[in-house]
Amino acid sequence: AFPVTPEEAPKVGDAMRAMQIRGLNVTVPHKQAVMAVVDEVSPEAQAIGAVNTIDHRDGRLVGHNTDAHGVLASLREDGGLQQLPACVALLGAGGAARAILYALLAAEEVERVTLLNRTVARAEALAADLRAGSRVTVAPIDDVPSMADVGLVINATSIGMQPEADASPLGDGSCLHDRMVVLDIVYKPLRTQLLEQARSVGARTVDGLGMLVHQGVRAFEIWTGVTPPANVMREAI
Ligand code: NAP
Repeated sequence: AFPVTPEEAPKVGDAMRAMQIRGLNVTVPHKQAVMAVVDEVSPEAQAIGAVNTIDHRDGRLVGHNTDAHGVLASLREDGGLQQLPACVALLGAGGAARAILYALLAAEEVERVTLLNRTVARAEALAADLRAGSRVTVAPIDDVPSMADVGLVINATSIGMQPEADASPLGDGSCLHDRMVVLDIVYKPLRTQLLEQARSVGARTVDGLGMLVHQGVRAFEIWTGVTPPANVMREAI
């Protein structure tokens, strides 16, 4: 890992060329800033509005986003969801939520997404950016609407992440029920308060490790053309 300050982020492209670094993964808080560093942005990363993977070929840098692939692969593999439910609640409107909403909207079977965020205007802007139309309803995260019809809840806020690991983005979690899958993409810690709440009502739970592994699997494929063994990567993490 190379820790990079926001001031130094614009130099990353030159550094990759000078050091002939073949590829990089990019994480918080640089996923949007590096879009200006690369020579080309893939259509998917352009639509999402964030780059998490840079592919360097003969001096030319191409930005990709593999988070959308990662979340869908994890929901299939860890959540047992070959098809997504018609009603989904997505918590958060930051960089990760952008990629996840893109993935949800690309799935035709998803009819309605409730997008809950602390800053409602940011959630509204995200829904507008992704041209979500009537498929997305925005609400404040501290005023959760009924989730009786919701079959999948995804936490893409940083609530529950260290050092504030005692909190849940859904308060006391009383809106959760046993007919839903709950994915918390926070991976430090892996057992979050939200997942404990979901477990206690009998919901199926998925932690953030699968998404992390699968975004890395896709990045590795982009760099090398080789599909790496996801189970070996997961065990190593
Ligand atoms: P981000 O762009 O900074 O977005 C943070 C989100 O959390 C925003 O929606 C923000 O709401 C909300 N939030 C933060 N603190 C809050 C608080 N105290 N109360 C209410 N809402 C709060 O971060 P990100 O890149 O999307 O990452 C979010 C989380 O996902 C992180 O924990 C990250 O590690 C994890 N992640 C995991 C994977 C994976 O592969 N498993 C991939 C990407 C990210 P506002 O808009 O109101 O500020």
